[in-house]
Amino acid sequence: MNKTFSNPCSRCGRERVVVRTWKEKVYDSVIINTEKECPNPDCQKLVNRENNKQKEKYRAIRRKTEERARNRKTTNEAKKALKNKKKK
Ligand SMILES: [Zn+2]
Repeated sequence: MNKTFSNPCSRCGRERVVVRTWKEKVYDSVIINTEKECPNPDCQKLVNRENNKQKEKYRAIRRKTEERARNRKTTNEAKKALKNKKKK
């Protein structure tokens, strides 16, 4: 039962290598983070590009959602303002 955590590259399937480790304090315990990359730098570059594309997509979706929420808020506020005007 001594299986090492396998984390193969999503592109080529090769076992990724640790490029960075750092400690992080989470509440009362210290956890060790590791950053792994594909042993093939060219492949890792493509993976990074792919990740960035995904992040961009996610950001665009979030921006749209926020915009929609803001629009809804302004409409509600406009309605409220209209009501208040009618009262007076
Ligand atoms: Zn790879």
